[in-house]
Amino acid sequence: MLDGERRAVVENLPDLAALTPGRTGNLSARDGDRFAITPTGVPYADVTAEDVPVLTLDGEQVAGRPAPSSETPMHGGIYRAMDVGAVAHTHSPWATTLSVLGESLPPVHYMLALAGGEVPVADYATYGTEELAANAVAALTEADASACLLAHHGVVATGASLADAVETALAVESVARLYCQARTLGDPEPLPEDEIEAVADKFDEYGQ
Ligand code: 13P
Ligand code: ZN
Repeated sequence: MLDGERRAVVENLPDLAALTPGRTGNLSARDGDRFAITPTGVPYADVTAEDVPVLTLDGEQVAGRPAPSSETPMHGGIYRAMDVGAVAHTHSPWATTLSVLGESLPPVHYMLALAGGEVPVADYATYGTEELAANAVAALTEADASACLLAHHGVVATGASLADAVETALAVESVARLYCQARTLGDPEPLPEDEIEAVADKFDEYGQ
C-alpha cells in the first residue's frame, strides 16, 4: 500500500536529517485519501519502507507496524485543507531562530518564491496537538503560502511531491539564514510581491 510514497519518505530522510537536529522533524507523502508518514522517534538511518506507517486523512493507521509521527494531526490537517502531495516538518536552526522570536520571514531573496513569498508564523501550541495542526493550517491558508514557521518550534513546508516539499524547506532555511545574517549588518528590504510572482512563474520553466 502506497509503496511509492513510503519509498519517497525513506529516500528523502537524508535531506531531512541534514536540516533538523536529532530525531526532530517528519515527512509525509499523500496519495488520494491516504498518506505515508515517518514513524515517531526513530533514528532516520534505521527506517525502511515497510516501517513507514500509512494512515487515512482522519488519522486511522491502515499499514505499517510502528506508531506514526506525533505530528500526524498536523500532516492530516494540511491534507484535508490543501491540495498538496507532501509535507516536510523541520526544526532547521535559522528558520527556527525567527520562529522563537515570533517573526515571519520576508522575501528578501528570490528563492523564497518557492514558498509563495513571505513565510508566515503560526501561533504556538504544544507539539503533536490538534491545536498546533489548526494553527499551521490557518497560517498556510490565510497567507496562501506553501510554507510557514511554527512559533517556538520550527518549519512546515508543503509541495506537490516530497522532493518539492523538502526543497522548499531547504529554501526557507537558507533564506532565513541570509536574513538573520543581513539583520546583523543592516535592514534588509523584501522584494516586491510582483517580482516574487514573476520568479515563481519563471521557476515553472527552471531545470532540465
Ligand atoms: P516525531 O518523531 O513524533 O515525528 O516528532 C518530531 C517532532 O518534530 C515533533 O514536532
Ligand atoms: Zn517538531
